Amino acid sequence: MSVKPAQARAAASAPRTQPKRVMDGTGPAMIMGRLSGASLPQLRLQSFTIFMYMKTMNRMSPAPGTSADTPAPRGFAHVDAWIFDLDNTLYSHEAQVWPQVGQRITRFLAETFDLDGISARALQKYYYHRHGTTLRGLMEEHGMDPTDFLAFVHDVDLSLLPANERLAAAIGALPGRKLIFTNGSARHAENICRKLGLDSHFCGYFDIVAADFIPKPEQGAYDMLLARYDVDPARAAFFEDMARNLAPAHALGMTTALVLPATPDPYREPFEQAREELAHVDHITDDLSGFLEGVIADSND
Ligand SMILES: [Mg+2]
Repeated sequence: MSVKPAQARAAASAPRTQPKRVMDGTGPAMIMGRLSGASLPQLRLQSFTIFMYMKTMNRMSPAPGTSADTPAPRGFAHVDAWIFDLDNTLYSHEAQVWPQVGQRITRFLAETFDLDGISARALQKYYYHRHGTTLRGLMEEHGMDPTDFLAFVHDVDLSLLPANERLAAAIGALPGRKLIFTNGSARHAENICRKLGLDSHFCGYFDIVAADFIPKPEQGAYDMLLARYDVDPARAAFFEDMARNLAPAHALGMTTALVLPATPDPYREPFEQAREELAHVDHITDDLSGFLEGVIADSND
């Protein structure tokens, strides 16, 4: 992180009467380049390279890198608690839901701090990288009440999100409880699951409010989820589209599955779509419905 916190805070808290400005006076392009570590063409190239690498993998396979020296991937036969991330895990980026949330976060910052769009976007990235979520940055650095933020950023158009009967059938056939574990709001999760036709299958929506605003992948969020629903992590499985969020789950004893996009997601950073730290990833798929159908078939053998 090259942007100095003090500079970012000074820019974010500038009075509304001040002229709009970028955070450290070196120009938005420099800020964005520093934050991402690459230019836009470089990011696109990295995204494409990662996508092509992913496409060479089996669509449903244990994580490679396992060998006689490493433990076998954990299975699902013992699992009675099925925990799912929400955004970009239960639906495709092609539904254009997450980009809307990102754009509304940018707009919230622009309106709150009277920033131009580029500066607001840079501030958003700063909060995300420093605090895990923009909301936590706003709360910790500005003491902001989260209520308005959560309502505003999740007020998105779900018209491109189709019902997913195949996924509903697969989740419905899994033995045991099913839970949502999201860094967003429960209301957003309920809206998404209702639109997907999945809502009747989940017994709980553990959101950022329930986690006392501690986001994944911080350990505290997982501990609170397990305590709230009395889940034994050794009998739980966690499905998530960000590899880093699987690490605490695996350390707790859960079976972990990384859900990758079937097509490259242009709205997410390469690390968010990459296979990283595979020791904590038991399974990988870019077809969640098909993967779960395989799990169910195996359980019936
Ligand atoms: Mg996600």
